[in-house]
Amino acid sequence: MTVRVGVFGAGGRMGSTVCRAVAADPDLELVGAIDPHHAGLDVRHATGVDVPDLHIAPDPAALLAAGAEVVVDFTVLDASRGNLAWAAEHGVHAVVGTTGFTPDDHDRLRASFTRSNCLIAPNFAIGAVLMMRFAELAAPWFETAEVIELHHDRKVDAPSGTAMLTVSRMAAASDTWGADPTEKEVLPGARGSAGPGGIRVHSVRLRGLVAHQEVLLGTAGQSLSIRHDSYDRDSFMPGVVLAVKHIGDHPGLTVGLDAFLGL
Ligand code: NAP
Repeated sequence: MTVRVGVFGAGGRMGSTVCRAVAADPDLELVGAIDPHHAGLDVRHATGVDVPDLHIAPDPAALLAAGAEVVVDFTVLDASRGNLAWAAEHGVHAVVGTTGFTPDDHDRLRASFTRSNCLIAPNFAIGAVLMMRFAELAAPWFETAEVIELHHDRKVDAPSGTAMLTVSRMAAASDTWGADPTEKEVLPGARGSAGPGGIRVHSVRLRGLVAHQEVLLGTAGQSLSIRHDSYDRDSFMPGVVLAVKHIGDHPGLTVGLDAFLGL
């Protein structure tokens, strides 16, 4: 039996890629596409997916009529908060890639997703999930670490959700980080910004990039670099498709794809 899927942000860069990935998977069925600013467009024109008579709808009411069991959300934070409130209220599972959710958001979502499940993953690229896990494993063996995240020049938030999650997990894995030696910052911001554990995070925005991150760890006489590169939005799709297929098995709120990979 196929899983019936609706996509929030279907007119966007990630949302349209998700529409194509869902339509290409024999176990999934694209039954709804929501995007207020692209409403009325034939899904074929907006995403290239050949689903006859499916038009982008302005709001989620269409998803109920279509019997969506899982919604995927790649929008903007405020819109995503509203979309998730709708999913929780209507008992529809949610797979969320939109970044910027705070611990307070997580608490609210934990309380509201009682009839259906929600996954928030700041990075659906399986290589990036492994990078975060490797960084967490390495953390206790090094005293200094810095994270450099690099993204395309239209990303509106900084640092990335992946960078924030990486440093949070490294800080939770070790509390012996060395102090920043900088006494004089000639250009403000040259040392990036101190995240959890004082680990410095640097955000690069460059035309031509997609999503990249390097975790640098150093201790006496050695350093370790862990780097992940997403060259294409398709890199996120195996993780999104996996999550859509298994969200029903993970009750309540899950943050990060790790549990879905058995990590
Ligand atoms: P984008 O191209 O701007 O797409 C967002 C889309 O959502 C736009 O078409 C936007 O319409 C639409 N939208 C706004 N309000 C909406 C609402 N209430 N309901 C439905 N759709 C709505 O951005 P993107 O590059 O696809 O990125 C989207 C999000 O995914 C960002 O938060 C980004 O950081 C995140 N992201 C996550 C991952 C991951 O692996 N977790 C990977 C890449 C990106 P308008 O443009 O007309 O406002």
